[in-house]
Amino acid sequence: MNKRIILSAFALIAVACAPKQVQTSGPESLLLKDYDPVSVFKLPEHHPSQAKFSAIDMHSHPFEQDEAGIKEWVKTLERNNVEKVIINTYACGDEFERLYDLYTGISDKFEMWCGFDLTTWGTPEFEEKALADLERCWKKGAKGVGELGDKGLGEAYCLRASYGKATPTGHLNDPAFDKLLEKCGEYGMPVNVHIGDPIWMYEPLDEHNDGYMNAGMWAIDLNTPDILDLYELVETFEECLNKHPKTTFIAAHFINVHHDYEFLGQVLDRHSNLYLDNAARHLETCATPRATKKFYEKYQDRIVFGTDNNPGDRMYGLNWRILETEDEHFYANSSYHWPLMGLGLTDEVLQKVYHDNAVKIRESL
Ligand SMILES: [Zn+2]
Repeated sequence: MNKRIILSAFALIAVACAPKQVQTSGPESLLLKDYDPVSVFKLPEHHPSQAKFSAIDMHSHPFEQDEAGIKEWVKTLERNNVEKVIINTYACGDEFERLYDLYTGISDKFEMWCGFDLTTWGTPEFEEKALADLERCWKKGAKGVGELGDKGLGEAYCLRASYGKATPTGHLNDPAFDKLLEKCGEYGMPVNVHIGDPIWMYEPLDEHNDGYMNAGMWAIDLNTPDILDLYELVETFEECLNKHPKTTFIAAHFINVHHDYEFLGQVLDRHSNLYLDNAARHLETCATPRATKKFYEKYQDRIVFGTDNNPGDRMYGLNWRILETEDEHFYANSSYHWPLMGLGLTDEVLQKVYHDNAVKIRESL
């Protein structure tokens, strides 16, 4: 064992024994998880307290479950210049109706989207039951469907969220989904879909993993039987987009291929029924501010704003700071080890991403 290994081993033991102590003894012992740098740059800072243009948050969830919490959320939205929030409930049946009444009873700022009823997946009655439930939700007032999610084994979000089961169903190109997805087009309900996860989660968890801290938390085991990798999943999604040209899809989180803008642009070019939401991917995309800004400029008619995070002034404020300002090299307790960079999007792009594209999607249906 050489000296370096002995030192590292000692450091690990020291950390394990220490109560909650920050290691300051140097690069041989400081763990990446404890790395908490403070920017030294004397640069102007900007902290927009609200969105520059009235915003529609196209990707949120029922984070608040009681009247007081929802009323507080409404005040936060007013302070932040957010005019509407799409609540992806994942839910169907009675649960969707309960959430619908709870949220819309308090404020018209909330628009409720339902999930699919997948409880009878794999049985002969599946299609009929799921279609009946979709009709019920639509009649109740569901304006879209969300969030569906496939991290490699098939759609699992609706089941997981509504029934506590994690058993996945099929990929979105599975014929069993055909009538449901067609019906969404007929009802004018856009479908929000989460495909895969950021690329770091698929890479080996070693010293070369560029997004190690997040990969450690969300790693995807490609040895799982039948699991598809990110690009294979996108292929299944593209088949689904081809099958249902009259249904509008919003791929959450840039389809998780924000590390490969050329490919992402090609996917958008191939499918006019596809939009992207930027929810919860600012930390990832602001690592490459110039390439990201170029992508926003080029596809400014195809990206909508979303948050997908617990609502609060701090959360919204970080969105405004990254999208609107040109602040450089700042930290905000992010789960990555790199500094954040403002994208400084132009007014024209912001207006479309915050607002106009969302209106366009809903009006065109
Ligand atoms: Zn989400």
